[in-house]
Amino acid sequence: MEERVYDKDPYCRSCEGTVLWCRPAQKQGKTVYEAAFDRVLFYPEGGGQPSDTGTAGEARVLEAHQREGQVVCTLDRPLEPGSQAVQVLDWDRRFSHMQHHTGEHLFSGLVHRRFGYDNVGFHMGREEVTVDFNGLLTLEEAEQLEREANQKIWENVPVRVWYPLPEELETLEYRSKKELDQLEGPVRMTEVPGADCCACCGTHVGRTGEIGMIKVTGLMHYKGGVRLSLLCGGRALQDYNRGQRQLSRISVLLSAKPEEAAEAVERLKQSQGEGEGRFQQLFLKYLQLKADTLPESSADLLVLEEGLTPVQLRRYCTMLTEQHKGGLVLVCSGEGTNWKYALGSLQEDVRPANQALCKVLQGRGGGSAQMTQGSFEADAQEIRRHFQDGMWRG
Ligand SMILES: [Zn+2]
Repeated sequence: MEERVYDKDPYCRSCEGTVLWCRPAQKQGKTVYEAAFDRVLFYPEGGGQPSDTGTAGEARVLEAHQREGQVVCTLDRPLEPGSQAVQVLDWDRRFSHMQHHTGEHLFSGLVHRRFGYDNVGFHMGREEVTVDFNGLLTLEEAEQLEREANQKIWENVPVRVWYPLPEELETLEYRSKKELDQLEGPVRMTEVPGADCCACCGTHVGRTGEIGMIKVTGLMHYKGGVRLSLLCGGRALQDYNRGQRQLSRISVLLSAKPEEAAEAVERLKQSQGEGEGRFQQLFLKYLQLKADTLPESSADLLVLEEGLTPVQLRRYCTMLTEQHKGGLVLVCSGEGTNWKYALGSLQEDVRPANQALCKVLQGRGGGSAQMTQGSFEADAQEIRRHFQDGMWRG
């Protein structure tokens, strides 16, 4: 087996190794190269932690995976077997993984101690880091755990990583992850004293203080338990900054102090609702004034009106039938060949007329005997011409 530098010293950012073999492979339709080294710096994806990236000689290391007990690196160009290659890690990415992985241990350990729940899923993504537990937590409980986890971070306790002997393993109380079953080799233990002991092959920080901070950013019910979103260290700070920028923009827009932004939004929504109600009242008055200009009649009536909502279409149609402006009233609103309509009558079942009009005007719609609503795929001229020729009356 190769020497796994990430396992012995997660802080090592560069090392030299001999290329054992290298061969072409296909990845998403592109030719890449796979290689193995006698010493390897790159953590292979596993246990919820994504693989490391970096460079090896002239090649870019795109990812690393464990395959049949060997760490296989995917490269963008070939390396000569037998040659020496200097491996350099993308350190910022790795350190972020170390912070989040250790933060997750700390949090999961505290959840396990307090509630007995197991971590049944762990995913470190680009956007968020999620941890699934097989039991329910309230938001208050999650906040309490967050406080305790941060307390442990500030205590800056050393994180211990070791390979226990079989007899020690038998008496040791520790959590294990499902993914562990698929990994070969001796069990590797990671302990945050006073908070967690867990079998894990990932990379971790040396002291809890390096996690920086831990922030729960989301909590949702998931498969009978909960899914928590967590951010640690630099990413927690980025998230804080993003939120702060948003809030300060919102507070400028509202001319309110940041801590009073929510109240200002409530007031804004209330006054918008009142304005909306007032507008609807005035609009109905406007429609009534238009209706007043039409004579009473029992003939079929067509009205085309700009910019009516479906509710306003219905209200206007009802207004016109109740005020006897037509025996059968069709109100349309729209533009081009896209018109919405309401068809109503107090005298007849409008459904047969609705069907006939839809046929000649490429329409779709339906409703009750008193009123139907829908849309026509025809222009204003066609609507007028077909309505007036009365052929749809049969
Ligand atoms: Zn771990």
